[in-house]
Amino acid sequence: MAKVKVNHDACVGCGVCASMCPDVFVLGPSGKAIIVEQYRGASEAEGEIPDDLVDCARSAADSCPQQAITVE
Ligand code: SF4
Repeated sequence: MAKVKVNHDACVGCGVCASMCPDVFVLGPSGKAIIVEQYRGASEAEGEIPDDLVDCARSAADSCPQQAITVE
């Protein structure tokens, strides 16, 4: 398991993360990226994902133009 978080102060809603790793990220109603419902935690901007999705979440984090995603 890994913790994933999207910083909504930084996210500009470009959709890169949701297109690269749709099993983890989706664009929410506010136009910013959120965690898919299945893995969501205390807020829609954070959650816990299984090990087999960590690589794609990290790739999305690396590709985020705003460096708004953290995976740990
Ligand atoms: Fe937001 Fe980054 Fe995802 Fe773009 S790639 S929607 S800026 S979190």
